[in-house]
Amino acid sequence: MKTEEYNLKQEIKEEVANALRNGIDNEGCAVFRVMRKEHYSPKGKAIILNNDFYEKIIYKCNLCRACGDGLCASFQKARRVLVLKDKEMNANKEMIDNLKRTGNIYGIQE
Ligand code: SF4
Repeated sequence: MKTEEYNLKQEIKEEVANALRNGIDNEGCAVFRVMRKEHYSPKGKAIILNNDFYEKIIYKCNLCRACGDGLCASFQKARRVLVLKDKEMNANKEMIDNLKRTGNIYGIQE
């Protein structure tokens, strides 16, 4: 494990534990209000992060900070951990490939 990945995971663990201890408001989360499933709520995501299952849910978050700056920062750090592990979304990979190939994210030749 890379040092950066290790440090990010430690920071995530501390921030998530702190958020869980202090209580997390799920109702401010737009994703949860639409999906209505616990694992899409800020608290659900915090619990999943706390158990090191980053890939399952971390892109089901728009990073709006409605659940708090610390928790939102943890979600951003979890994305960074996935990038360090070369685990990125196929859609992102495709957009980057298109951008390199054509100069736009849609892959349209101009
Ligand atoms: S940062 Fe993510 S989890 Fe938190 S309220 Fe916004 S969408 Fe929900």
